[in-house]
Amino acid sequence: MSSGIQSVPNLLSLVGNTPLIELKKIVAGFTGNFYAKWEAYNPGHSNKDRIALHIIQEAERQGLIKENTTIIETTSGNTGFSLAMVSMIKGYDCILAVSSKSSEDKINMLRSMGAKVYVCPANVKADDPRSYYQVAKRIHEETKDSIYINQYFNDLNAQAHYNTTGPEIWKQTNGEITHLVACSGTGGTISGCAKYLKEQNPNIRIIGVDAYGSVLKKYHETEELDPKEIYPYRIEGLGKNLIPTATNFDVIDKFVKVSDEESAHTARETTKKEGMFVGYTCGAAVQAIKELAAEGEFDENSNIVAIFPDHGSRYMSKIYSDQWMKEQGFFDADHAKDPKKVEYIQ
Ligand code: PMP
Repeated sequence: MSSGIQSVPNLLSLVGNTPLIELKKIVAGFTGNFYAKWEAYNPGHSNKDRIALHIIQEAERQGLIKENTTIIETTSGNTGFSLAMVSMIKGYDCILAVSSKSSEDKINMLRSMGAKVYVCPANVKADDPRSYYQVAKRIHEETKDSIYINQYFNDLNAQAHYNTTGPEIWKQTNGEITHLVACSGTGGTISGCAKYLKEQNPNIRIIGVDAYGSVLKKYHETEELDPKEIYPYRIEGLGKNLIPTATNFDVIDKFVKVSDEESAHTARETTKKEGMFVGYTCGAAVQAIKELAAEGEFDENSNIVAIFPDHGSRYMSKIYSDQWMKEQGFFDADHAKDPKKVEYIQ
């Protein structure tokens, strides 16, 4: 290679170091300063590039991966895409078991990146043999030389964010961050960032965003998994029907629940007002900010960082489709605000 050419060896050296962007119009009138950690700037367009790279590199370091190893995972889409990308660049096979709730765009993207994809029913219990957890486990057992990433129960998930996302936010805010607002799925992002940030300043408030239909908020408050909290919802990548060990509940100060409908509208509003084409959970994070602002969580000295996990292009057939919004009843003026009253349409 010519010494004058400026290039990177491959996309993997571009993972992380995402920008922090000041939010303006979407938070107009709110007290405090608001910033988005824009994870769509990763080469695989989401925060999940960080964990895919870290977990695979650690497995390589520990000698768990050989030339013909197959990478296996359950995923709502983003982790799958990042794993497929890292596997493709490094030359590994990748098999993914995904929930039928994942958008068709996401599933097609995984297949385009060379992954073999199994689509499993969304509305079955985690221990049902048809669930994507059980399907992935079975494939792992049946596939010689395979590793199961197991992001919900893998300590390396939060460690990736402890090593990178947390320090980046600390540096980018010059240590002046007062609040972190992050959607919690596996909990890896919020837990890893929170651990690092609280080590720098224990007063930083860590606020998790959960979905109606998920058990996380109640579990944080009561240490009990309440099955009554579980019912279908639409937001992908946020909330859970089980308790992931990747989540460190001790470093989270509180959870806020957001509805499918308001998060979808807030995502569309954020895109229109900020010119950032944001994913569904970015809308959920901004919706949480709206609710926290109304509760008086912030003052004029607050510097709030919201994690924006991925890009709006992943949701063309969902929140950015007027047809989909209409089918969900999200355009009905008198639509029930109580998320429990919303009938689930798959
Ligand atoms: N938003 C989206 C779009 C995601 O895919 C995920 C991952 N499930 C999250 C937020 C939550 O991130 P984490 O799993 O690190 O809690």
